[in-house]
Amino acid sequence: MSDPNRQTLPPPVRHVGDIEALAFNDGILPTTVDCAVGIDLPDAERMSGFRSGEKFFLHVNEYVLKIEGRTVLIDAGSGDNMYPTLGRLPGNLRAGGIDPLSVDAILMTHLHPDHMHGLIDNDGAPVFPNAELILHETEAAFWIGKQPTGDPRIDKNLPHVERNTRPYRSRMRLVGAGEALPGVRAHLCPGHTPGHTAWVISSRGETAIMWGDLVHLQNVQVARPEVAVSYDLDGAQAARSRKETFAMCADGGWLVLGAHLDFPGFGRLARAGDAYRIDPA
Ligand SMILES: [Zn+2]
Repeated sequence: MSDPNRQTLPPPVRHVGDIEALAFNDGILPTTVDCAVGIDLPDAERMSGFRSGEKFFLHVNEYVLKIEGRTVLIDAGSGDNMYPTLGRLPGNLRAGGIDPLSVDAILMTHLHPDHMHGLIDNDGAPVFPNAELILHETEAAFWIGKQPTGDPRIDKNLPHVERNTRPYRSRMRLVGAGEALPGVRAHLCPGHTPGHTAWVISSRGETAIMWGDLVHLQNVQVARPEVAVSYDLDGAQAARSRKETFAMCADGGWLVLGAHLDFPGFGRLARAGDAYRIDPA
């Protein structure tokens, strides 16, 4: 396999009014098209370009927002104990001129391993010790301080949530509707997890959205937003959130940033009949 690091330097940047958004990559995450739910397998194979059982990789992207002199990271990457092709974020940040110590705040889309294991190093120390950790109150209520539920998809993640967020507890801020940071608000789009959050970024009449895990299979789910993935805790709800959020993005002409879109993950949605396509932006 070629080098899994998709980072290009200087980091790709887009402007949203006065806010800068820089794209960083943590590496790549293996999957197969068999994770698609609600689509005939031959259709999923044809649209994705991969056969059932054939391994391919999703990019794992994070973004840095420069807002009024503050450095704000969206999602924290996977750390280097999850999969050998992941854990590039801290090195890529440094190579791109962002010292992890300079990160003032981290906006979490949700508390899944590939988005939060990178909060701490292998000794349990915070990678971003000066950062305030900001997450939606619904996501926090679902994961933090919870007892096992009997669902292994949830239970196996609970100890990681405790360990990864612990060093940030004294600087953790839970948010709901309204501005979380100047020009940034949470848009709850549940389904993948109950509190899965897109972050809507607005400045001087321009708008962007970092939609986290609203899309995993770019070549399938943009054209067929009703298709869920096995990683969704509630696939039907995730599909409703995807359709609702896609309509907002397309009708508003918003710049889209995606955790698992092809790096750098900057795009714009356009309606294509009853569905959508995504154009690089
Ligand atoms: Zn993810």
